[in-house]
Formats: sequence, structure tokens, C-alpha cells
Amino acid sequence: MRRSQQSRRRRIRRRTRRVLRIAIPVILVLVVVFLIFTGIKAVVRLLKPDKTPPVIELTRNPDYFVPSAEEYQEEGYKAVDDRDGDLTDSVRRIPSGNVICYEVTDRAGNTTIEYREVPVGDGKAASNTQSSDTQSEGDDSGKASEEAVTYTTDRINIDPGYVPDEKVIYLTFDDGPGEYTERLLEILDRYNVHVTFFVTGGFPAYADMIGKEYEAGHSIGVHSYTHDFAQIYADKKAFWADIEKMEKVVEEQTGHRTNLMRFAGGSSNTLSAMYTQGIMKELTKEAEKKGYHYFDWNVSSGDGSNDCTGQEVINNIINNVPDNDYSVVLCHDTKEFTVNNIEYVIAWALENGYTFLPLNETSTTAHHAVQN
Ligand code: ZN
Repeated sequence: MRRSQQSRRRRIRRRTRRVLRIAIPVILVLVVVFLIFTGIKAVVRLLKPDKTPPVIELTRNPDYFVPSAEEYQEEGYKAVDDRDGDLTDSVRRIPSGNVICYEVTDRAGNTTIEYREVPVGDGKAASNTQSSDTQSEGDDSGKASEEAVTYTTDRINIDPGYVPDEKVIYLTFDDGPGEYTERLLEILDRYNVHVTFFVTGGFPAYADMIGKEYEAGHSIGVHSYTHDFAQIYADKKAFWADIEKMEKVVEEQTGHRTNLMRFAGGSSNTLSAMYTQGIMKELTKEAEKKGYHYFDWNVSSGDGSNDCTGQEVINNIINNVPDNDYSVVLCHDTKEFTVNNIEYVIAWALENGYTFLPLNETSTTAHHAVQN
């Protein structure tokens, strides 16, 4: 009896040993495979260019308000990057009037900026912190802060002969005027910033905005009446007829024709080749002969693309402007997310010593290489 029990135990022990002899190497192999796999993943991740910008989170107590921006006590912020981890200590905090700009750049050079509207007031009319690209349809936070915000404007000089010491940004807005133009004019007015509008006849109900732009000291350039490539690039005659139609509107609204122009699609557009080969080469020459100063751009806000966001508009501008002494920035006042976020670009630029100027016939032109 005892012997058989002993031999059973021995058998169990032997079986266990056999199982372990197989299982341990299998587990070891699995662990090694797992380590190699995660190692490869980590290496691949490191090799892949880092395109994810850090995330800034602002703390906001909805009950906290101050009588004036100077009395505001920072409520806190945090910056985290998917690769670099906690970047809170690298955040640049730039107060500008009633807006505080928080800017952080990761090691790969991706910049995120977040803004806080200082909660001035008693909490009844003020708007809370908001991520710059989450403003919704019909947001009127710009209006809400209008009375409270004052900005120094002595850096702005719109004398055509003015040669600034500082770096210059020429903001240009194409394709309007349209439904967001008035809001944009209010923002520009609040900062006393002057820009250039390359106007179209796309939204005739807003044609009077051209007059308002002009009266406010902005530059007006012709862009196109129809902005219909098939029509305007059908031949040179059609192109100039369309420009002439737009000039008429500009003259009605401002009392003057303009000699500033931006080609629909820019002078480097290749789409025109679908309609007429080589037309841009001829039109650019003719434009100069006719006395037009045409402008392309050397910084694009990216807002021409429909899946662009307000945050991208901000990033595209503030990441590229520092490379240039003069930046001609392409924007569209027909894009609500651009109009809603341009204020943050302006606050950032003024705080960093940039000057905003409207284009005029003496401005440096940003010309693309003509492709067609
Ligand atoms: Zn356009």
C-alpha cells in the first residue's frame, strides 16, 4: 500500500519535472520575444518623426474672477508630451492685456499654445477658459471681452514709407468679404492691427465690408470676382474681365481702384494649366505692365484646407513666422476657425516684438516661382 503511494508520488514528481522542463524554456522564449518586440516598437517609435505636439491643460475655477488683469493669480497649468513627458517647467507664460498665452515646444519642435482669457469681472458676462480650437458656431466671446481689453498699439505704424526695425508680419485675408469679416474687423480694431484683404465677389451681400475694411485703414487688393478657375484661367481676356469686375466693386465701396492683387490660387498655381497652358507666366508679366503689384505669400496658415483646425492655423503661423524678416501670411476671412483664432496669433506676435503692417505698393513682394 505504502509502496504504491510512494511510487505514485514519484510518478507525479517526475511528470511535474517533465512539464517544467518544457514550460520554463517556452516561457523564457516568450519573454525574450516580448522584449524584442517591445524593443523594436520603442526603436521604431524613436525613429518615426515626432509630429504630436504637447498638450497644455489650464486649471480654471469657474467661480474665480478679478477686477482687473493685473490682479489675476495664476490658477495653474500643466504641459505633457507623448515623448518628452512632463513639460510644465518649459511652458512660456506670456500675459498680454486680458489674454495669457501659454506656449510650449517639445524636443522635436512641435509647438502648442493655449490661451486663457483672464476672468475679469464678476462672473456674469465673462467667458471661461477655452481651448483655442473648440470655439463653436456663433461664439461671441470676442464681443464679450471687447470692452475689457485694451492693448498698447504704439508698435504699429502704417505709413507706407515706414521701414520697421522689428520683424514684420503682413496678415492677408483672401476670398472675402463674408459672414466672419465683421468679427475679424472688430478684433483687428481692438489691437489696432492693419492687414490686407484680397477681396472677391463671392458673397455680394457682404460687399459693404470692403468699404469698412478700407475706412479702418486696411489695404484692399483684388483677388477675383468669381474665383472660378475654369472661367478666369480660360484665357487672358477672361481673367482681366473678372479682375475689372472686382475693381468696380472695390471702387464703389472705397472710391478708389487698387493696384494690389493676388492671383486666385497664387501665381504658382498649376491648376490654371488645366484650362490654359502657360497662362500664369503671361498674366504675371501683364499684371506688372498694368501697374499691379501682385503678392503671393511665404507663410501659409493652412486654412485653405477644410480639415484644418484653429490650433493648426495658430501653429502654422507662429512656427513659421520666426524664420522670416518679412512674413506675408496667407489666411482666409471666409474661414470661421481662422477668424476665431487670429487674435491669439496677434497677441503672441505683439508680445514677441513683431509689427503688423498692411501691404502697399512699396512692400516687399513675396513671389512664388511661376509654374505654369
Ligand atoms: Zn482665393
